[in-house]
Amino acid sequence: MRKPKKCPFCGARDPRVWTRESYDRRYDRAMKRTTVYCQECGCRTEAHQRPGDAIRAWNRRAADDPKPQTGLSFWDKLKFIWGLLWN
Ligand SMILES: [Zn+2]
Repeated sequence: MRKPKKCPFCGARDPRVWTRESYDRRYDRAMKRTTVYCQECGCRTEAHQRPGDAIRAWNRRAADDPKPQTGLSFWDKLKFIWGLLWN
């Protein structure tokens, strides 16, 4: 299994790979979920069923521009609504 790269946000090394078992209502049984998270800044991946997928997701983010990904900003949304009203 590949190791997760250092944190894309704060640069801390050795992010933790955390697997836990939790009850999944959809399948009516306990499912393993793995998350990769940074101990320094607390950012983390989605929970994945396979640890390899969680690490892949982390490394994909680590390779990207090291800025947190956000959706539309408040102002973008406001402009969008404004456009609907006035155009
Ligand atoms: Zn971090």
